[in-house]
Formats: sequence, C-alpha cells, structure tokens
Amino acid sequence: MTNNSAKVINLADRRAKKENDARNAPIHALITWLYCPKCKSLEYSEIEMPNGRIHKQCGNMVDEEEVEIEVRAEYTISLRNSRRLDELFEGTKIPGFLKPVAKKGIGMLERLQAAEKEYRRRLENIVDGPVIPYPDDWDEYSLEMNLKTLNPIGLILTEARQPNLHFPEAES
Ligand SMILES: [Zn+2]
Repeated sequence: MTNNSAKVINLADRRAKKENDARNAPIHALITWLYCPKCKSLEYSEIEMPNGRIHKQCGNMVDEEEVEIEVRAEYTISLRNSRRLDELFEGTKIPGFLKPVAKKGIGMLERLQAAEKEYRRRLENIVDGPVIPYPDDWDEYSLEMNLKTLNPIGLILTEARQPNLHFPEAES
C-alpha cells in the first residue's frame, strides 16, 4: 500500500466515524405541557407558541410548561415500550385469554400503543424526519432522570411524559 492510499482510507474512516457520531449524537429539544385551569385538562405539544395558546374547548388561556427532552432517548424508550406492548398483545392471542375481562385489557393495550406511536410521531415532527434510535445495548437507566415504570405492564415513562411533575395541581 502506498502512502497515498493509506491517507485516502484514513479519510474515509474519519468520515464514517463522523457520520456515525452524528447518528448517535443526542438531539436536544423542548416539549410543552399545556394545562387548562378551567377544564383541568392536560395535553402536550411539540410546537412552540411564543404568544401562548387558547384551549379550543373553552376559549381559556392555557398554562404552559416547557420540558427539555433528548429526542433520541425519548424515541428509543418509546420504541421499547411499543415492543413490550406488542409482546403483551401477542400474549392475549393465547386461547382462553379472551374472556370479557381480558377484552378490556386489549383495549387498554391498544390505547397505550396508540399513545406511544403518537409520541414518536411528534418526536419525528421535531426533527422533521426519521429519528434513529440508540442501539439495543443503550441503557435508559444511564440517564440522570426519574424514570417511572408503569406496572404491571412495565412501560417506562421519562420525566417529559410524567405531566404531574410539571403540573402537580393536575390529576394525572
Ligand atoms: Zn379548557
């Protein structure tokens, strides 16, 4: 190998490393929790509105609380939640599971799954494109964060998804 081709390979290596680093870099953003003091309703938005906003249902000005998020971490945890829900949903197909009580359980799993998908859609809105999750060996407990586990399902909620942390007066 001549010196020159070694240099070319080195450059390609460095470019690959740079691209890899960019893919794995944290993405910092904000999500806003909205609380209507009149309706006591809570929702979140990924869209920033510097002049505030009005609750469509009642015309009241809503209280806002911005929460810093790391998009890639939020996305990865949400994907893991979805995987967990898929497994549980598969479990409900076992014969004998489909009793009237269990049917209610399926509705709940579907609602939770829809919420995860919606959350990821909002995260994609923030970056205006697909979000690449962290690899499988990434540990969400490495985050300096108060993760909440929803038992018995085992879903994990980041701080951004625990509205009572941001609006303690709201019932969650
Ligand atoms: Zn309202």
